[in-house]
Amino acid sequence: MIDTHTHIYLSEFDEDRHEAVQRAKTENVSAIILPNIDKHSIAAMNQTANQFPDIIYMMMGLHPTSIDADFESHLEIIKHELDSGKYIAVGEIGMDLYWDKQFAEHQKIAFIQQCNWAVEKKLPVSIHLRSAHNEVVRALKGMPEMPKGVFHCFGGSVQEALEVINMGFYLGIGGIVTFKNTNLRNVLKHIDPKHIVLETDAPYLAPHPFRGKRNEPAYLKLVLETLAEIYQLPILDLDELISENARKLYGI
Ligand SMILES: [Zn+2]
Repeated sequence: MIDTHTHIYLSEFDEDRHEAVQRAKTENVSAIILPNIDKHSIAAMNQTANQFPDIIYMMMGLHPTSIDADFESHLEIIKHELDSGKYIAVGEIGMDLYWDKQFAEHQKIAFIQQCNWAVEKKLPVSIHLRSAHNEVVRALKGMPEMPKGVFHCFGGSVQEALEVINMGFYLGIGGIVTFKNTNLRNVLKHIDPKHIVLETDAPYLAPHPFRGKRNEPAYLKLVLETLAEIYQLPILDLDELISENARKLYGI
């Protein structure tokens, strides 16, 4: 399995980061991809990646909720990092209008700018969106060339899922699919698993039965098991298919 989106560089893992990576390996997680948040997370992310070079890869991007009036100078730092060549994707980027619409326009500008860098550098993007599906799709469709990538933590409708995969994007599926009251399972019945990649988004969104607790890459197995139930496929076959999606997209 490949955890395509996880923040194990955050302080929630300071006590047991080594053990958490070890547990992931024991559960057959073969790669872990870290999305950046903003300029404050770059050092910790790099430090974690350097500790586990056999399994960890990094992305670089500016998260929409870290965008304010000063986003342009912030983006310069992100671009400088991206130019170093040590990142395999641009992320996480996107639009989040759930809490605050004040910087909606800034978010859109920053999103498009970072997508353009991804296209230039031939890197995929990891897209975070919340209450902004139409805004993100419209921004993507307006680009001269769309990047490839993932709609991370996908939680939309069947129609939205079809729109995403028709643009050539993957759906990032994590702990939410294991929740008892989720509609995501019904949505995925309409979606071929060749359009899915796995993610935990740790430390957030732990799958059932750990819901509400700290998430970690080893729990990816619970997500895969739920998907195997949905698709009525043997776990190993489904893992092979979905891991290949991630390897192809991220070039790992
Ligand atoms: Zn994230």
